[in-house]
Amino acid sequence: MSMTVIKSVDPRSPARRAGVRAGETLTHINGHQIVDVLDYKFYSYDPKLELTLNGADGSTRTLRVRKMEGEDLGLEFETYLMDRARSCANNCIFCFVDQMPPGMRKSLYFKDDDARLSFLMGNYLTLTNLSQREVQRIIDLRISPINVSVHTTDPVLRCEMLKNKRAGEAIDTMRRFAKNHITMNCQIVSCPGINDGPALDRTLNDLAEMYPAVNSISVVPVGVTKFREGLYPLKPYTREQAAALVDQVEAFAARHLEKQGTRLVWCSDEFYLLAGRDLPPEDYFEEFTQLDNGVGMLTLLAQEFRRALDLMEPGEMEGARPFSVATGVSAAPYLSQLVDMAREKCGTIKGNVYPIVNRFFGETITVAGLVTGGDLIAQLRGKDLGERLLIPANMLRAGERVFLDDVSLDDVERELGVPAIPVAQDGYELLDAICGVIPVPAASMPNLPEDEYYRYNPGVR
Ligand code: SF4
Repeated sequence: MSMTVIKSVDPRSPARRAGVRAGETLTHINGHQIVDVLDYKFYSYDPKLELTLNGADGSTRTLRVRKMEGEDLGLEFETYLMDRARSCANNCIFCFVDQMPPGMRKSLYFKDDDARLSFLMGNYLTLTNLSQREVQRIIDLRISPINVSVHTTDPVLRCEMLKNKRAGEAIDTMRRFAKNHITMNCQIVSCPGINDGPALDRTLNDLAEMYPAVNSISVVPVGVTKFREGLYPLKPYTREQAAALVDQVEAFAARHLEKQGTRLVWCSDEFYLLAGRDLPPEDYFEEFTQLDNGVGMLTLLAQEFRRALDLMEPGEMEGARPFSVATGVSAAPYLSQLVDMAREKCGTIKGNVYPIVNRFFGETITVAGLVTGGDLIAQLRGKDLGERLLIPANMLRAGERVFLDDVSLDDVERELGVPAIPVAQDGYELLDAICGVIPVPAASMPNLPEDEYYRYNPGVR
């Protein structure tokens, strides 16, 4: 079945007014063939459209639609992409999916590498499964920016790291994008002794030559779980190796800043934490372009938290009930500092921060986003949790109330005997959560029923 069959038509949409019906297949807009969501979004932007639709009986008709420029047509298709998500053609030596424990839900093992998801959802792609036609479509439709997992620009090394003999060609694709003014944000997963040191210098120099099309670069440390049996022998970064890498990247960034007015490349927060270094101040991160890769995330959180504290009257905080915060091992000291700051402003604030050791994936995994419900329950049982347990919302699967290990938020609440409140990575929301006031429904908990809302927000009634 074609993936461009219309599943439903929004009742108040331009498509409904024009008479489009569910069950029809959208084949063309203004004469352009519609193959997937990118074609749909791009060609439906204009205010005057002519839609070609096939009926289930094989008939074809055209409809004229008038709407505002950029207004959504109001069609919903079987899948978001209007096509199958493309899986990756690689077998990277550092792939996190390969290092997951067995027996988890199937979707967690799906390795996506889809250019459309890069543009629409910010996913990173390796460019190894793009046909020449697709490269040209990105250029023609001006699909920009795209996010590229580069890892190295040495073609031979890239083939070895991605275990794909075509992986080296992607560097030429990037040069072609750069020539055609397609903006690229780049990510380098750094593996000790493999693509760092001189290989990293080469990569940064090659990417800097593509500036300003290459708009930003993040360097993140490889995640090494305890499930690596039979996989390429990889070790996590030691403190000394992490410190050397931070120095190398900062030196490169300083030279680029001098020449071009931007640092271009940043290490993720995790590298600073591994190296035992203080995180750089706010202005170091410029536009915070690489937040999704954990670059500057803790600095931004602290900045927002300080501003939120400045705006809050001490009286507004006095009624805050005792609470606890659970997070990954690496961020815990920073969260403790923020709670201390809140306590300095209002002496009655009472909260404990608990670092959760990652027993599920292995102790070398220290980020909050990979903490599981099972580890939360096992390590917090019997602890003083106050009246509420705050957890980073990114511990939950996007849009769900379930942790990576399929333990639900309800399980955690039942086992620990306190409401567990997911808090977005946002200093303002964190202070609200500490004070027992969360805007409703919290971004992380859509569709929260009203009675639940009051349970989570005791300060609001
Ligand atoms: S591109 Fe590499 S790291 Fe990403 S999913 Fe595929 S094999 Fe894993």
